[in-house]
Amino acid sequence: MAMALKDKVVLITGGNSGIGEAVTRRFIQEGAKVSIIGRSIETLKKMKAEFGEEILINQGDVSKYEDNERAVKATVEQFGKLDVFVANAGVFDGFAKFADVTPDALSDAYDFLIDINVKGSFFGAKAALEELQKSNGNIIFTVSGASFYPDGGGVWYTASKHAQIGLMRQLAFELAPNIRVNAVAPGGTLTALSVIPPLRPFVKIVDNETKANSIKKRNPLQLAQLPEDHVAAYVLLASDAARAITGEVISSDGGLSVRGL
Ligand code: NAD
Repeated sequence: MAMALKDKVVLITGGNSGIGEAVTRRFIQEGAKVSIIGRSIETLKKMKAEFGEEILINQGDVSKYEDNERAVKATVEQFGKLDVFVANAGVFDGFAKFADVTPDALSDAYDFLIDINVKGSFFGAKAALEELQKSNGNIIFTVSGASFYPDGGGVWYTASKHAQIGLMRQLAFELAPNIRVNAVAPGGTLTALSVIPPLRPFVKIVDNETKANSIKKRNPLQLAQLPEDHVAAYVLLASDAARAITGEVISSDGGLSVRGL
């Protein structure tokens, strides 16, 4: 089969672990050159050692505009253009309960999580915009089941994932007809998605088996999803085969929307 992303240049935030890493691997298999932004230099270097010339690594913090800007610039210097931006980096609130958290911790958690999940998405899209206009490219946000339903996290995470949908839909409207803007909404997935420091005193850290069992119980297909389960949706949205798709969310969540029917 022909490669779906041959000669595309893609920038993925959080491409060094979990869902972003799986998307990076698959995009490279599909013929793309991939540039990734991450925080951990160890995992970034591991990806570089594995993929060599096919990948560019950028250490940075998505909540800082200049780090997004620097990564876009480096990507274009290295690979000549930018076709697809994937805003994927994110952090979690560990299902911390609103009623349990002190006002100070609430405020610290708000700043910490919204800065990364929401402001990081705004900043990445803004930094990538000029290059995407030149390439008639597209943007994909990693959202979540928590973008639509309660019980995918606490209030911080759920509010942040709803906010990303607003950003995605408004950008799809404003950036048409040049740039398509879409999202993938994974359900609970076995990754190392980290609980932000201000909320750690208020949450129980669960082991992977407990996590897998609770994820399975929540979706009709009873899947404890793996990062690889979601990559086909990203390939479709990133590719020219989706040229008529914008402002859409592909849910990859074991059927959360049919829960209760
Ligand atoms: P993960 O922790 O493996 O990946 C997240 C990546 O983002 C990591 O590489 C992390 O270092 C990076 N990151 C976090 N903050 C950053 C920052 N400030 N600057 C740069 N990089 C930063 O977890 P994951 O589950 O693969 O998460 C990826 C995305 O998927 C997130 O947006 C998350 O909300 C979403 N998601 C996850 C699940 C799940 O159950 N794991 C479900 C739905 C959606």
